[in-house]
Amino acid sequence: MANSIQSVRGFGDVLPVDTPVWQFVEDRLRATLERYGYEEIRLPLLEKTELFSRSIGEVTDIVEKEMYTFEDRNGESLSLRPEGTAGCVRAGIQHGLLHNRQPRLWYAGSMFRHERPQKGRYRQFNQVGVEVFGLPGPDIDAEVILLAARMLRDIGLEDIRLELNTLGTPEARAAYREALVAYLRGYEDRLDDDSRRRLATNPLRILDTKDPDTRALLADAPALADWIDDDSRAHFRELCAMLDRAGVSYTVNPQLVRGLDYYGRTVFEWVTDRLGAQGTVCAGGRYDGLVEQIGGRPTPAIGFALGIERLVALLQDAGAAPAAPAPDVYLVVAGEAAGREALIIAEELRDALPGLRVMTHCGGGGFKSQFRRADRAGARFAVILGEEEAARGEVGLKDLRSGGEQRTLPRAELVTTLQELDMGTAPGTTI
Ligand code: ATP
Ligand code: MG
Repeated sequence: MANSIQSVRGFGDVLPVDTPVWQFVEDRLRATLERYGYEEIRLPLLEKTELFSRSIGEVTDIVEKEMYTFEDRNGESLSLRPEGTAGCVRAGIQHGLLHNRQPRLWYAGSMFRHERPQKGRYRQFNQVGVEVFGLPGPDIDAEVILLAARMLRDIGLEDIRLELNTLGTPEARAAYREALVAYLRGYEDRLDDDSRRRLATNPLRILDTKDPDTRALLADAPALADWIDDDSRAHFRELCAMLDRAGVSYTVNPQLVRGLDYYGRTVFEWVTDRLGAQGTVCAGGRYDGLVEQIGGRPTPAIGFALGIERLVALLQDAGAAPAAPAPDVYLVVAGEAAGREALIIAEELRDALPGLRVMTHCGGGGFKSQFRRADRAGARFAVILGEEEAARGEVGLKDLRSGGEQRTLPRAELVTTLQELDMGTAPGTTI
């Protein structure tokens, strides 16, 4: 098609063949969140740019080069949200949700980052996130991790690795940062370009580098673990003990630092090898300083976000994606009058059997092509309404799976007959 308009790069469509697995993931995640007593919050897609530069950090990749930032018609700088935490904190402060309360919140929705699109990495992507405020202890860290673990389990993903680390207090991190910079300055000419730039801006991010030469240098660098303050160390020890007690397996990864500035103490990620380089499906941590940083009272907080595209990809790659539910009944009609009557029959069936999936034909055509469409839709039964049957108050019923004979019955008996066949009672069949 000449001149047809394509979607924007990195902004994908979710087509009908894929929506069932999306709905499955979203429904399961919501159900698990509700079982823990977390409440949903819905936040805007657009915020003032300053919110993100003040929270995520001026010199992070996200704020430096990945945000969709523009001036609106009033000349105000706005950005599409690249993540959900900042907006959630802003809303919490703005509506007084954090004062003398300890809300446990979750949200779902699209985030926007101008990254290089590839499998598992898009410019519009979806997260389900959790944020808990007002609780400083390792008990809530443990609960949040148990919650994320169960969310992954409940969608059928069992073999994803949990990595944990503690970043200590901001003071401990600052001291470590200096030591790291002092060490790496000695090897500046051997660093990759990104890392050399980060040395001046965001040196802890160098620990995240994928460059093998820089990684080799890091092997002998000062270790963050040696700089962690005693309180943070005790906090982390207690968290680990609680996870051990709950039977959650994890590995402590001293290199795990996370890309956003606001984290302190506990950080964690769930990683899989099955998605290539885009292997992190869930990431989060504690951010005790952030609420104050964007204008609220000091409030401890912890949260995480799951990447929905990556969860969907894992289920699809494993062949575990649920299919679309097929209709139980497809109405096949002969002639215009029967076609109109079929709409009424379909409504009667839907009234009487709330669990029944009924599809009408619409659009005319011969029996043969109608049956073909019924098959393509995966329908279990065809209800057939010919001119004569309609006149006699009868309908035909044919089991499309067994290939058996068509039988004729009074229209008034259609509901009970379908009930006897177990249609419309169970949650329904799938293709
Ligand atoms: P990554 O290391 O993969 O870039 P991140 O550390 O930038 O992830 P967070 O900001 O912590 O990710 O977001 C949490 C989760 O959101 C990630 O673990 C991932 O599953 C998902 N995610 C992040 N960026 C993208 C993206 N561009 N496309 C799809 N999913 C993403
Ligand atoms: Mg990223």
